[in-house]
Amino acid sequence: MLRHQAVTKVQLGVQSCDDHILALNRRGHTLNDVRRAVRLLRLAGLKIVLHWMPNLFGATPESDLADFARLWDDPALRPDEIKVYPTALLEGTDLYALWEQGQYQPYAEDVLIDLLVQCKMLMPPYSRINRLMRDIPAQYIAAGTTKSNLRQLVQTRMRKQALACQCIRCREVRGKEIAVGQSQAMEELRLDVVSYPTDATQEHFLQYLTPGGQLAGFLRLSLPTTPRDILPIPEIYEAAMVRELHIYGPAQALGQRGGAAQHRGLGTQLLDTAAEMARQAGFEVLAVIAAVGTRPYYRERGFTAGDLYPIRRLAV
Ligand SMILES: [Zn+2]
Repeated sequence: MLRHQAVTKVQLGVQSCDDHILALNRRGHTLNDVRRAVRLLRLAGLKIVLHWMPNLFGATPESDLADFARLWDDPALRPDEIKVYPTALLEGTDLYALWEQGQYQPYAEDVLIDLLVQCKMLMPPYSRINRLMRDIPAQYIAAGTTKSNLRQLVQTRMRKQALACQCIRCREVRGKEIAVGQSQAMEELRLDVVSYPTDATQEHFLQYLTPGGQLAGFLRLSLPTTPRDILPIPEIYEAAMVRELHIYGPAQALGQRGGAAQHRGLGTQLLDTAAEMARQAGFEVLAVIAAVGTRPYYRERGFTAGDLYPIRRLAV
């Protein structure tokens, strides 16, 4: 159903990887529910964004850090993107009543910042922190930090401690006039592959890095290691899957014509490399999960339209 509606990315409100915390906060789901959802999404090629909340009822800064580590240590999780939403205490909630009874306490701002710095240090290069705070107007927050610029506060502390987050967002060349549009700079880009297993696939994160270590573009190649027939989508049962292709810098939009030729070249090179890796792994078909607007881009690169995914045959 999601693919019929052209969905390419799904966000899940996971909030915690700890069944005890999930039950205490009446989330109505377990860690195994999350794992199963992530597995189905990944096998269908979808991009996975998980939401995670520190400072839930029953958590401590120490348990939160261990919980955040589980996102990356558990092969069944390992999301592509993450949104971190520190719990906000709002009047009229059950949590508010617990706070009034002295059973719940929001972290002091300093403790929260320290926790988030440590979380960022656990980020693998294949994932992206999209958000570090929810936009809740300060007047609604009963206690705890009301800072909407938490990300900046965290970044400032990391700079002071000479720490660097390895996530996609912190490395992307977004908005900078880095000269990847010039052929000389293009030649300076270095291809690096970060591979990691999940419970259902072998993932290869192909990234083009600048000499300074910034991210100029990436591709997610997902090779299933388990049968896909738990999904009602026969056209991808035997396929390697490109779950994401993203190029940064000016005129980066996929499918957009008239951009720097080298940019289109970067996407093409990533696709060709992925196709070769898939072929060597024994796959005869490469599928891509593509938004409707990017289909012409893939057609120009040897993909033909399947029912739900553009598909490229790989030479055996
Ligand atoms: Zn980061």
